[in-house]
Amino acid sequence: METSAYAAMSAGAPLEPHTIERRDLRPHDVLIDIKYSGVCHSDIHQAREEWFTSIFPMVPGHEIAGVVSAVGSEVTKFAPGDRVGVGVFVETCMECDNCKAGLENYCVKGFVPTYNGKNYDGEVMYGGYSTAIVVDDHYVLRIPDGMELDVAAPLLCAGITTYSPLREWEAGPGKKVGIMGLGGLGHMGLKHAVAMGADVTLISHSPSKEEDAKRLGAHNFLLLSDREAMKEQAMTFDLIVNTVSAPIDLDPAINLLKTDGTMAYVGLPDKPLQMNIFGLNSQRRRIAGSNIGGIPETQEMLDFCAEHGYAADIELIDAGQINEAWDRVVNSDVRYRFVIDASTF
Ligand code: NAP
Ligand code: ZN
Repeated sequence: METSAYAAMSAGAPLEPHTIERRDLRPHDVLIDIKYSGVCHSDIHQAREEWFTSIFPMVPGHEIAGVVSAVGSEVTKFAPGDRVGVGVFVETCMECDNCKAGLENYCVKGFVPTYNGKNYDGEVMYGGYSTAIVVDDHYVLRIPDGMELDVAAPLLCAGITTYSPLREWEAGPGKKVGIMGLGGLGHMGLKHAVAMGADVTLISHSPSKEEDAKRLGAHNFLLLSDREAMKEQAMTFDLIVNTVSAPIDLDPAINLLKTDGTMAYVGLPDKPLQMNIFGLNSQRRRIAGSNIGGIPETQEMLDFCAEHGYAADIELIDAGQINEAWDRVVNSDVRYRFVIDASTF
């Protein structure tokens, strides 16, 4: 099926209109009429080849919300008209222990990304900056009733990527949690941690974000460059979820952790980080990593957001504004997720 899209034709090239081909429906496939597509910083890292060699033309987008328009012969979970979402991966082996445990995001064979990769048959994948997508039903999520599709789209990556480490390291009442970086991921992490009942501090390098952080529910705001405040807050955090997209000096933030405290890294800077190990072993602190979340946990997160009455704070844009929006994301000037109206592709 011919599908309108926006693509980067080579590394670092601006995005431009492009046409792609979507496969015919297999028995377990769902055809989704995309309504909205979120802009993740990972789209930019990959289209600018900041992580590793990418595949071009690239149609980015792994925060997809839309409506089912057709289903394959063996699909029973979904029907035309259903409101659904698709996140960061669209195929996994479903045979390894991780897949069997609902941790498809840690599939031992390696998950097939929604874009910038090939599926197990060798087909190049194209993402959500397009009008339609075909996805195996296992990787399709249900958007809860009452949640608008535009504000739901960012939950499919930013939402689950921050929810998963908050659950894993047990954010909740009595825990002091820091969310580092107030961007797309950070603003969702902040909302989740507040909804989970933790005492939440937003840790930022942008003084201009204090008011927004408080409006979004943060109990406290901490500026990384404020030496006095950083000293006062040393040794007080149980958990810090670090969403920062750029390489930074980690030592000041590590010192914020209590004995046995954890920094869960979800940000994926393009360069290795500098850090002093003394900051870790002096208080048995830990640095951990976390990557999106599995399918069952993603559905749990969507339902949790609906139950607590929140989703993403977005700026809705047309396809023609993507390049400008990307520059704003890189300049930490997104409030707090750009979402593209797919009718403009
Ligand atoms: P984003 O909207 O650009 O937010 C990143 C935030 O990092 C900025 O808003 C800014 O917050 C902070 N920051 C940026 N440059 C900085 C600098 N030089 N020094 C200190 N802080 C800086 O990006 P995003 O979409 O939330 O993604 C964040 C990172 O997570 C990206 O690297 C992305 O690729 C990665 N990611 C990982 C996963 C995963 O599963 N692990 C999933 C999605 C995305 P302040 O202005 O508040 O300081
Ligand atoms: Zn993402």
